[in-house]
Amino acid sequence: MADYRNLIDGEMVDNGEWLEVLNPANEQVVGRVPACGKDELDRAVAAARRAFKDWKKTSPEERQKVVQGIAAAIKENADELFRLLTSEQGKPHAQAQQEIYGAAGLAAAQSTLTLDDVVNQDDDTRLSRTRRVPVGVVGGIVPWNFPVMMAIQKIVPALVAGCTIVLKPSPFTPLTTLRIAELIKDVVPAGTVNIITGEDSLGPMITEHPDIDKITFTGSTATGKKIMEGASGDLKRITLELGGNDASIVLPDADVEKVAEQLFWSSFSNAGQVCIAAKRVYIHKDIYDDLSKAIAEYAKTVVVGDGSQQGTGVGPIQNRKQYERVLELIQDAKDNGYKFLTGGDKDPSGTGYYVPITILDNPPEDARIVAEEQFGPVMPLLKFDSIDEVIERANNSEYGLAGAVWTKDTDKGVEIAEQLETGTVWINEFMHLSPFSPFGGHKQSGFGAEYGLDGLKEFTYPQVITVKRDAAV
Ligand code: NAD
Repeated sequence: MADYRNLIDGEMVDNGEWLEVLNPANEQVVGRVPACGKDELDRAVAAARRAFKDWKKTSPEERQKVVQGIAAAIKENADELFRLLTSEQGKPHAQAQQEIYGAAGLAAAQSTLTLDDVVNQDDDTRLSRTRRVPVGVVGGIVPWNFPVMMAIQKIVPALVAGCTIVLKPSPFTPLTTLRIAELIKDVVPAGTVNIITGEDSLGPMITEHPDIDKITFTGSTATGKKIMEGASGDLKRITLELGGNDASIVLPDADVEKVAEQLFWSSFSNAGQVCIAAKRVYIHKDIYDDLSKAIAEYAKTVVVGDGSQQGTGVGPIQNRKQYERVLELIQDAKDNGYKFLTGGDKDPSGTGYYVPITILDNPPEDARIVAEEQFGPVMPLLKFDSIDEVIERANNSEYGLAGAVWTKDTDKGVEIAEQLETGTVWINEFMHLSPFSPFGGHKQSGFGAEYGLDGLKEFTYPQVITVKRDAAV
């Protein structure tokens, strides 16, 4: 058990008050982090404000160098970082490794993004151009499911755009982010990146802080709404990446054996705690029996357990609150007599927030386990007859994050994708995000976008400068 400190104004600091962080695999304390409040936040914001004066004047090349330094620091220490990540988050080592290398790769790739000036008018009367100027001090708030990736996808575009940032990790998973803070302390100029930890109550203090100009948030839709409200006082810019209830649609021409395993992982990667996991899997009636059987058979080969142990495919749920919510949804399905292909029973003895792999056989569309975001190792398989019907069912959600279509006929897949009300649709894969493509939700899954130039623009204001050429002055 070690203590991890906050990064404020280029120094690793603590305030003498601590929060304990548990390993979800055994409920033992793995580390402590500072329990910060308004005073520490004010110091971090003041440091970010001071640093902004110089940082906003740096060239894209200078920023790129700093961000590449962050990528290198993560990559060089990947072994230590992925083990620490598993110990606080619960995901199996291989998936933790993917997150750490993914975060380093994202930083390296996004360091190359630049927002060039756009000429609006260039004639005898005027030269008008739009330049992008950094919004200022950013408040970043991140969840516990991909703590490192989410932190990096906020810190990096903020820096690339010329902003400075105060980032708050989730109180459940702050350790790896603070270890990265220590590693990059001398890579980033003092005050440009500040990372402070505290309970959920630190969140609204960030949202409402008068000297923060923009909030970039990833988390639940319920919290996203509170953030929008909190940020409205001084009209802060906001980017919200929120929940989802993504539908996968499997057409009758899909190869049952080939897609079964991929469909399984589209729902069970990171124990289902992925905003873009397939949370409803619609299978055409002609292949429903064969495919549901193949998925259930594959599920039997996957080990649920401690993510630090070799062979574990699905780790524990990250925290007790989420664990209890997932068990409640499973209990509701049992109480209603829905049919389980796997799971449904939980051994109440023992420590660790483990939930058996749970696959439901065609529960009704209004079942809680279908209509709500489960965010756990739960997969409802649903039977459909016609394309029109399945599109309507997939769109019947307040969420609109992502979705997938599985078919040999990719033109047909695209035709269906174009009718889905979501920010991203994959044909014959899932969860692939590119550093260069915008990612964001429709409806109540989000506001704005991350990734790509669209994501970068969200850290800037447009400024139009017009020179009158034929002026009499
Ligand atoms: P959460 O909303 O409970 O917490 C997220 C962060 O917000 C944490 O750091 C928390 O401390 C902070 N917070 C809590 N209350 C706050 C408030 N009132 N004001 C400001 N900040 C506050 O979410 P979670 O349980 O950590 O994460 C799970 C949710 O995140 C799921 O719904 C999932 O779908 C969503 N998610 C979305 C994406 C995406 O990119 N769209 C990615 C990952 C997770």
